Amino acid sequence: MKIEIKDLSQVYKNDFRALDKVNLEINPGMFGLLGPNGAGKSTLMRVLVTLLKPSHGEVYVNGDALSKNRGEIRSYLGYLPQDFRFFSKLRTWEFLDYAASLAGIHNKKKRLAEVDDLLEQVGLFDVRNRFANKLSGGMKRRLGIAQALVGDPKIVVVDEPTTGLDPEERIRFRNILSNLSQKEVIIILSTHIVGDISSTCSQMALLNGGQVHFTGSPEQFVKQSKGHVFKTSVTFDEMKTISEAYPVITSVPDAGGYEVEFVADNVNGWKASAIDPNLEHAYVYFMEYLANTKKA
Ligand code: ADP
Repeated sequence: MKIEIKDLSQVYKNDFRALDKVNLEINPGMFGLLGPNGAGKSTLMRVLVTLLKPSHGEVYVNGDALSKNRGEIRSYLGYLPQDFRFFSKLRTWEFLDYAASLAGIHNKKKRLAEVDDLLEQVGLFDVRNRFANKLSGGMKRRLGIAQALVGDPKIVVVDEPTTGLDPEERIRFRNILSNLSQKEVIIILSTHIVGDISSTCSQMALLNGGQVHFTGSPEQFVKQSKGHVFKTSVTFDEMKTISEAYPVITSVPDAGGYEVEFVADNVNGWKASAIDPNLEHAYVYFMEYLANTKKA
């Protein structure tokens, strides 16, 4: 399985350019698409799942153009949209059963076996008889991923799946996705939450203003900010000055003031020592210093 996105642009009717010459190659494993709100992530996801015809460019799946093979490519796609909704009158298992019939699994025995398997996979088997609208927020989201997995898709697209989830549910959700990535499946996860792009993502891209600014591994992304993340101790008075001068990532009170971690192109006289960056540092460094100058 391989997805190639070539020179993809999307200009909406109001002339707004939501995607601007996007080029990406996506291989099996978890692919994290990171970007702030309005970056164009949902637009790109909707093109990938054939809900939106792009203004320019093409997507190839295993070498076949998406525009010419919609039906076939759709048959091995699973999608969890950002605003996932379901029929409130159905029980959890009934909803999945319905999704499985829509996906063309007509043999009842086979369908019910698949439903049970999916319920187990996403940890909803114990609540299978509960009405879907009575599930907790996190459970609803898991039901959403279960319906995206009906029919064993080869490409799974999940758009901002962890927004609004508590940390425990977020981790649970990520684990479901990372279990999937053990198979030869492409999982595309779009998010504005840096923590979602954990080590479980083998590849990532950073989208900003409709353009791809970085593509590579999370480790390579972090490397970009090496030498630009610092730690220092400041007095209470200095705290204001430093936070006006630089993006401060953490500030922990200590005896005489604060111990702060901040991101900077250079430290301009502050006595600070460089520390190893993490993904959050790298994202802030990118957004504050590179976003307007750099393009992949
Ligand atoms: P993200 O998912 O990264 O938040 P979106 O793809 O939803 O970004 O939106 C990217 C930009 O395109 C936003 O500025 C949004 O307002 C705009 N946009 C999205 N859909 C439409 C539309 N149908 N018509 C006009 N502008 C749109």
